Amino acid sequence: MKKQHTKLLSAALAAGVCLALILSSCFALPASAKTADGKTVIVLDPGHGGEETGAVKPPFVEKFLSLYLAQWVQVFLSSYDNVEVDLTHPGDTDMSLKERVDYAKSVNADFFACLHFNASSGEPSRSGAEVYITIDPSLFPQEAFFAQTELDELSALGLDVRGIKFRIGTNGDYYGITRRCTAYGIESALIEHCFLDAAKDRAFLGNGDSSALQLSLQTLAYADADAIAKHLRLKSSNTGVDYTNYTDPAITWPVLPYSASN
Ligand SMILES: [Zn+2]
Repeated sequence: MKKQHTKLLSAALAAGVCLALILSSCFALPASAKTADGKTVIVLDPGHGGEETGAVKPPFVEKFLSLYLAQWVQVFLSSYDNVEVDLTHPGDTDMSLKERVDYAKSVNADFFACLHFNASSGEPSRSGAEVYITIDPSLFPQEAFFAQTELDELSALGLDVRGIKFRIGTNGDYYGITRRCTAYGIESALIEHCFLDAAKDRAFLGNGDSSALQLSLQTLAYADADAIAKHLRLKSSNTGVDYTNYTDPAITWPVLPYSASN
């Protein structure tokens, strides 16, 4: 059983390496598309909300963490020139996956970041970050480059990295957000920042100390904003940060399919 698992893992890793090679050698991507008025439109989607709480691992409730995080990502990204940064829902409200993506479409989003926290439910050995992207070749390469940039940022904060992930369902991408964004041609990423039931990640989030939690979420928000700004080649006249000439990174994190067993 273990041998089989190792074999599968090696195959997946080999596939990841192949994808990485393909990605680094074949694609030179242009900066993101802009709306007619020249603005880059970024939509941030706080995972869950309202009746749907997401993971609840006291004292952490995912919907509150993701909303607070999204509000700070919006603050940091708003310092860049020619950007419009919108939240799918600015408060603790119910919203279907379809409504979230349709909102992004209605504002001509260039990029959609879906912000989540994970829970392993009985598998406490899991910890760290993973980024889910589409399997559709039209957007896979650039989303993989974003995921690499994002995971580099989160790794620098000391979080474990679980990889660049994809999950296949019966109609393409398993996750509705990813599938619908891809159908609209909107680049997206579903970011699972860390596990609310992993000791290491709970310590990162302050172990229940509310001031430490706020600071940790602001730190995560800065990392998210920095990765998005780099990927979209943003520039800030206010702060002097200029990512206009940012070069896509080599893919060094494993590119792996979702698996219930890892
Ligand atoms: Zn979630």
